[in-house]
Amino acid sequence: MKEVYKACIISTGTELLLGSTVDSNSLFLSQKLSDLGLRVISRYTVGDNREQIHNAFKNGLEMADLVIASGGLGPTLDDLTKEVACEVAGCEMQLVEEEVLRLKEFFARRRRDMPQENLKQAMFPPEAVILRNLRGTAPGMYLRKDAKVLVLLPGPPREMQAMYLDEVESLLKQDLALDEKLSASRTIKVIGPGESQADEMLADVINDPRGCSLALLAQDGEVHIKVTAEGENAQHSRQILKAITHRIEAKMGKYVFGYDEDTLTGVVGELLAGSGKALALAESCTGGLLAGMITEIPGSSGYFWGSVTSYSNEAKVKLLGVKPDTLDRYGAVSRETAEEMARGILELSGADYSLAVTGIAGPDGGNQDKPVGLVYIALADKNRVTVKEMHFTGAREAIRSLSARTALDLLRRQLQI
Ligand code: ATP
Repeated sequence: MKEVYKACIISTGTELLLGSTVDSNSLFLSQKLSDLGLRVISRYTVGDNREQIHNAFKNGLEMADLVIASGGLGPTLDDLTKEVACEVAGCEMQLVEEEVLRLKEFFARRRRDMPQENLKQAMFPPEAVILRNLRGTAPGMYLRKDAKVLVLLPGPPREMQAMYLDEVESLLKQDLALDEKLSASRTIKVIGPGESQADEMLADVINDPRGCSLALLAQDGEVHIKVTAEGENAQHSRQILKAITHRIEAKMGKYVFGYDEDTLTGVVGELLAGSGKALALAESCTGGLLAGMITEIPGSSGYFWGSVTSYSNEAKVKLLGVKPDTLDRYGAVSRETAEEMARGILELSGADYSLAVTGIAGPDGGNQDKPVGLVYIALADKNRVTVKEMHFTGAREAIRSLSARTALDLLRRQLQI
């Protein structure tokens, strides 16, 4: 059996700890390394601090086969990554003449004197592969030592990604014989149950994963179940993955809306396009959010008629034909109003389906009978209207987003019957 290589990712930069920069580099590297079949076992985010950087590399090199870091390769005093990483790996750095020339040329072209500090960017251990940086000045480094691989990449995401894709990936494949991915993974996406409910529904699978690992991630009202199968070879991993996917599908049933890169909006779009049906919307508390989500998908003009943002009562009456009496009697946030909005837009548009959303997104506007988070969602076709009453919790944005997604999901389930 081929072993699964372990990887550790290190991001350096105090700005990452302060929260002023999102650590997108480690997300990128996590995805790329997992795609290669490596198991990412840890990620460290450390400031520009010698001791912290030292500890991260020490732990990484002890625990993992590959340590890959980004940031801190610049010329300034706080750029310590290369120096500390080489110290931990036990490699001496030397001035590399070719790199000195390259730096000198870089400054000469800009008619500037080269500060002495920049020379440290030309220091490398003799056994390292120096990685060209076509988009910046800091070169990266790839080093194989004592059956471990150490990779240092620049911090700016464009530079880091280009260097990884252009040079590092093929070196890793070569050195770690990763041509064939050993593990197999898939993300199964569900909407409806929350994270703890999904956890409960999947208890049998989680307690008996049969060669797989499972991770649940709640995101925007969806739960993503990431499954990784580690079999004896790639084919075996795919078999185990297939089996666990079936078990999860059996437990989650109609809540499963897609896999991997699928999005709810994309799935609904495909279902509409595939059935040749058109959709129209009447949005109150979502104020066009749903229309925005739908039109993010290229090609949505093929199935999306459009939306009426009927925020005021007047708009509901004048544009959608909601009866003033209904609004007086039941209020704008009511089952009856949602139903009339859905019927109104269906008639106005001539579409096959319509969705209408009316609710109280807060923070104000709620009362005991109709609290913040109360939302009515109606789905209509030529034969009938279905209205769902929802009680969402959270801030205004969360309530609006959950309303939009729940509406889409109602239509998805109708289309998947
Ligand atoms: P250079 O100094 O030549 O720009 P460097 O390797 O020294 O390269 P840093 O100074 O550490 O890189 O980072 C440069 C910029 O790159 C940061 O200001 C930050 O905006 C961005 N950056 C660094 N690390 C990350 C990261 N992990 N994720 C996203 N952006 C990052």
